[in-house]
Amino acid sequence: MSAFAPWQQRAFERAIGSLAGQRLGHGLLICGPARLGKRALADALIARLLCTGAEGAAPACGGCRSCRLLAAGTHPDLRRISFALNDKGEPRSVIVVEQIRLLSEAIGLSAQLGGAIVTVIDPADALNANAANALLKTLEEPQPGRYLLLITDSPHRLPATVRSRCQRIELRPPDIDEARAWLTAEGVAPARIDEALRLADGHPGEARALIEAEGLALRTVVEKDLAALAKGRASLSATVKAWLADRPSDRLAHAAAYVRDCGRAELVSGKAQGFTERAAWYDHANRVRAQLYTPLKSDLLLGELLLRWREVA
Ligand SMILES: [Zn+2]
Repeated sequence: MSAFAPWQQRAFERAIGSLAGQRLGHGLLICGPARLGKRALADALIARLLCTGAEGAAPACGGCRSCRLLAAGTHPDLRRISFALNDKGEPRSVIVVEQIRLLSEAIGLSAQLGGAIVTVIDPADALNANAANALLKTLEEPQPGRYLLLITDSPHRLPATVRSRCQRIELRPPDIDEARAWLTAEGVAPARIDEALRLADGHPGEARALIEAEGLALRTVVEKDLAALAKGRASLSATVKAWLADRPSDRLAHAAAYVRDCGRAELVSGKAQGFTERAAWYDHANRVRAQLYTPLKSDLLLGELLLRWREVA
């Protein structure tokens, strides 16, 4: 378990502590922002739930038959539900009710290895309304040794009825000292850590992703583009074209973070002029980012956003 970040380790220890104390729920909602390691945490928990060699608050033994089958990817009592293929052989964008019905049937069977039966739904926020309803029945009738793990970045997108029937295992970004120590241990050059953490708003996983994707350089490009637009030195259409051609979502995230940081600096210096307009632009940038991959016209959405930037900058 030493490969865990400290925040994962704490969440894992709490969960197996609950298991040892027989307080672990049958429906588990594993949630928290992306890039904090929810899936690695879920995998360790799945291994422990299925393991027939571990006792008390120890992690999975790694040596029993269950652990070996899990490592080989052939454990008969583990099921994973995600996006299935539709009639045309393409992946669906939602998890549908038929998948949950199959799950309910599987839960009724006995465990082939005599241990637990574990089902994972990932991402759980992709459950459509009918599927979520069907899942309620399973959650309302817990059976000994049957566990249902729901993994999601966005627990608020799940119906409250589902959320309230699950025990929450939540990963949260750590404090700044722990984030720094973790990035150092990950081999990030100390000179880059504070800048990356600032851009990522203190989120260590995002900070590492920024460094790995050379996001710091992209941030500088985005800041220059915004400054040039504000001063009327750059063409709106050329900027829209350049942004859409290369990592548009990352650029919009940088643009939003830049405006957020400017707003904070203004508040600190007491010069909060135009703060409300910039806050609205920040929301607008995040909206456009979310809409980039929808059928809506990205060039029009981005053009409108950058046009407004000229007014608020
Ligand atoms: Zn084991």
